[in-house]
Amino acid sequence: MAKPKVFVSRIIPAAGLDQVKAHCDVDLWEERLPPPYEVLTERVKGVDGLLCLLTDRIDAALMDAAGPQLKVISQMAVGYDNIDIPAATQRGIPVGNTPGVLTEATADLTFALLLAAARRIVEGVNYIKAGSWQTWEPETLLGADLTGATLGIIGLGRIGSAVARRASGFDMRIIAHSPETSAEEAARLNVTLVDFDTLLAESDFVSIHTPLTAETRHLINNDALRKMKRTAILVNTARGPIVDQQALYEALKDGIIAYAALDVTDPEPIAPDHPLLELPNIIIVPHIGSASIRTRNRMAEIAAANLLAGLRGEPLPHQVNSL
Ligand code: NAP
Repeated sequence: MAKPKVFVSRIIPAAGLDQVKAHCDVDLWEERLPPPYEVLTERVKGVDGLLCLLTDRIDAALMDAAGPQLKVISQMAVGYDNIDIPAATQRGIPVGNTPGVLTEATADLTFALLLAAARRIVEGVNYIKAGSWQTWEPETLLGADLTGATLGIIGLGRIGSAVARRASGFDMRIIAHSPETSAEEAARLNVTLVDFDTLLAESDFVSIHTPLTAETRHLINNDALRKMKRTAILVNTARGPIVDQQALYEALKDGIIAYAALDVTDPEPIAPDHPLLELPNIIIVPHIGSASIRTRNRMAEIAAANLLAGLRGEPLPHQVNSL
């Protein structure tokens, strides 16, 4: 029997890719940069399955270009804001994602950013490289303490909860805004639920862990930033457009908040000459939340398992939409 035809939109870890190659006739996009939308639209014509990344726009037109035989879309990520889910559901196409396996790695990166911002690690590195380290100085590169400080978590889901567990170990006071979470669930994590404005007003650190949706786009806007403490540090490892980046630039420049640490920007990649990068009080890393060896291997395995299940006409182990 002929193997199902699939398009894989980038080289993914062998832990997943070898599985896909063993069972499918694979058209693999081998370039470093993602296939442009028009190229992707061409390459998916006639495929039975698509394994994609968050850098691929998967909309209704692309699904129609693929054709009615398209049985499954499997994304190697937990977030899926790049995929038109209602359009896939309408066409009876299951969409898979890779939740859970990247929770701890993303929470680790969140904490790495939080600590790096609090203790001005990047500034310290640059200070040495600039030849400024002359002696031990009583008042140079002073940062913020974590112990006793208030961490505000927006979105107490898998990653938000993993961040809360880490914050407990640092003896932080933890509050969260997460409308669907029960007070009991929050209490198990040492977290007190509060409304959005209280979180902004009381937090020394604000960390974002919601998906990007119509509701969360620009959740952190000019208004929200002005409700935060002037000493506040904002951490975003969720999705760039949840923060209004222009408003953030102005807030950091004018001292409305103290510092920001981002793993995600809007758009991605951020241009190397973007004004945000010229500010002294920001750290930006290139969307590496899940970038640990074990995590990326497990994400690739799950993406492959979702793809293969969909090709067999079975429910996906991790399916986003109900059909
Ligand atoms: P999750 O378990 O679904 O958690 C998201 C949480 O946000 C849920 O508790 C959700 O509540 C809550 N939420 C939704 N809308 C909200 C709002 N308007 N205000 C406050 N809370 C809201 O997802 P996860 O696995 O933790 O991942 C979260 C996001 O992180 C993903 O969607 C993805 O975009 C991002 N991410 C980034 C990286 C990276 O590399 N930087 C890696 C992994 C994930 P309900 O469940 O009640 O809707």
